[in-house]
Amino acid sequence: MQPSVLGLKKSFGFGDRLGLATPGHLAAAKRFDFAPIFAQQSIREMERTQRTPDQVMNAAKSALTEADFAGTWGSDADHLKTARDIEVTAAAGFTFFTIDPSAGVNNGADSMSEIALNEEVVAQREAGLWNDFSLGFYTDGAWDVAGETLKFSDESLHRAVAKYGRAVALAGDLAAHIAKVSGENAFEIEVSVDETDAPTSPLEHLFFALELKRRGVQNLVSLAPRFVGDMEKGVDYKGDLGAFESELQKHFAIAKALGPYKISVHSGSDKFSIYPIVGRVCGDLLHVKTAGTSYLEALRCALQSDEALFGDIARFSHQRFDTDRATYHISATSADNAALAQRELTGAALEDAYLNDDRGRQILHVTFGSVLTDEQLKPRLIANLEDNSGLHSQLLEHHFIKHLEALSAG
Ligand SMILES: [Zn+2]
Repeated sequence: MQPSVLGLKKSFGFGDRLGLATPGHLAAAKRFDFAPIFAQQSIREMERTQRTPDQVMNAAKSALTEADFAGTWGSDADHLKTARDIEVTAAAGFTFFTIDPSAGVNNGADSMSEIALNEEVVAQREAGLWNDFSLGFYTDGAWDVAGETLKFSDESLHRAVAKYGRAVALAGDLAAHIAKVSGENAFEIEVSVDETDAPTSPLEHLFFALELKRRGVQNLVSLAPRFVGDMEKGVDYKGDLGAFESELQKHFAIAKALGPYKISVHSGSDKFSIYPIVGRVCGDLLHVKTAGTSYLEALRCALQSDEALFGDIARFSHQRFDTDRATYHISATSADNAALAQRELTGAALEDAYLNDDRGRQILHVTFGSVLTDEQLKPRLIANLEDNSGLHSQLLEHHFIKHLEALSAG
């Protein structure tokens, strides 16, 4: 019952923060031709829920064993930022490593003057990241992508270097460490820059992909650009669908020409309006990653089976919201939080306000770590999900069928 590498097969990642969601995930995954990733957790999520990579892996393995699952499945050690992150997840048997080099991304590059861009390029040269030869590769080169010739001007190159030069060097170092730590074991790599402020332009994507190649990164199977518009947690895409599609087509053409590797859509939970586009444009070269939406379905199970428990979780989440929201990309505000906390709701109105409304969803979404490490609430929620495992799995199955159907609808 070991996870495998999935190569370029179209895939879907089911993050499970509770360790109890795999039966529901499996029920949905079986109906579609996406290779499923059942063990998937970012280092940040593991820290927030105080789970180890072994626990995440074992939760998936034991559920799949229980279900007599004989198919192929993947395991994603998500958002790895350091050598140590790689070592602890490789030791637990993860086979798919998502490198997050966002510490090296300069989010201010889009608004830097040419002088400031030049200074940053000089600073990176002095740090040994570039020389005449490596910069010349870009100023002199031209790349054919889907019938279009892509070239860098001095300015666009300097902006790409300023924005991603340090990140791509960091990604190269982390990729080399993954290869070293994996030794004889099969492994695959994703590189993600989705959690940064500035969208990745197609030319910057080209730069990033060429650099990963030039730095000898092996087994790159997917890349997650930061898309235009807003990919907020737990709610649908916010932005211009036409602009999203035309940018996605360019990203896809680069991934196909330079790899091929898959386009990876992070924060993929509940992005129903873009799924048909994503499915249509990317076809089989696609990976979609979800996580928090499964926690919300667990809370829906609690709400439908034990309103008192849900009420306690909601009250606690309201208290934690202002602190916990800090590192997440969401629109729900302190005022929304205070207003919802005042309301006295039951039954369907309670479910609508918390689980079918964007603000309620985001308030619950960002506070998962506090709930799942609270000494009272965590055991109560786990016991509820164990007592109501049929309902929990049914809710997850139904929810992910909606996701996978929309992705297949394009
Ligand atoms: Zn991500």
